[in-house]
Amino acid sequence: MGCWDAPCIICGAPPTKRDDEWIYKNEEVPSDFHELTKWLENCTLLLPDGEIVHNYEEVGCNIRFAPKGYGENYDIKAIPNAEDINIVSGYLISFGMWLHDDCWKYIKKYLGTDLSYNNIPEHPWNWQGELEGINYGQIEKYQSQDFKFYEIYQNKDQWLITSPLSMSKDAAKNKTRINKILSQLKLTKSEVKKREKRPSPLISASLVKANAYCIGNDGKVWKKIKGKWIYQKDFTKLEVELDYKNVTTRNAPNKNIILREQTSYEKNPVFIKKYEISRKKYHPIGGSFEFMSTKDGYRYLFKYFKKYNIGFKVKEY
Ligand SMILES: [Zn+2]
Repeated sequence: MGCWDAPCIICGAPPTKRDDEWIYKNEEVPSDFHELTKWLENCTLLLPDGEIVHNYEEVGCNIRFAPKGYGENYDIKAIPNAEDINIVSGYLISFGMWLHDDCWKYIKKYLGTDLSYNNIPEHPWNWQGELEGINYGQIEKYQSQDFKFYEIYQNKDQWLITSPLSMSKDAAKNKTRINKILSQLKLTKSEVKKREKRPSPLISASLVKANAYCIGNDGKVWKKIKGKWIYQKDFTKLEVELDYKNVTTRNAPNKNIILREQTSYEKNPVFIKKYEISRKKYHPIGGSFEFMSTKDGYRYLFKYFKKYNIGFKVKEY
């Protein structure tokens, strides 16, 4: 299988020119073309704890990203929900969604919002990190294991890979295409304005499956029932101090435990609303967590702590 180019969730272009070497050697391709595509290498990651980080680059061929200059030692996989949360590892965010820095900035300019993880529906993702069911327009012709840059050049379809932040005619054409993609994701000015103000989740209920749990703009838990977000009063806040000194494993994943911007279809999900992990050198030694769950969810969580020898002290129940 090897490497593949996962497309940007907003414009559908890749984060890199994997066939760079070949295309640079091709004298027929002018330097203008390379200049035009430079912006593709600067990437933004939307993380499930709500953080938004810019100026990342693709470092591994299977869609792994790291801050520029870090190499592969610190990386994030761009496949949402690919991994269960593992509290004892101390590294809760190893996955996210990626888009180009310019695409993120364009959305900020066009919609007046900071696009975050919770803006994007999660269910139509495939294992290659592609959003399914979205029509990206003409660029789809060039999407393949390695994005077909040379064919774009040959067909004079450069407009498809022109930054939405530039002022050219090509950019205007590309913006029209991108706006169509945004409206399929329910990211329009009026939708965003309406959804940012309401107490229920930012994500449109129409973009998640029935029975999805999600944290709302009000910080409380909501569930999709009969097509609508309904407030769940049985979810309460719990603050816990964790102690990792007796932990025997660093590998304790669990799919019931999720971060604040994720969606869950489990019966009693445990949302991590806030967290802070203390370390000695690189090793996590303890943490302070704020959870949101039900009584059954907490029973489950305490079992998890006991199973992995995680010391815990409840601050508030
Ligand atoms: Zn993009």
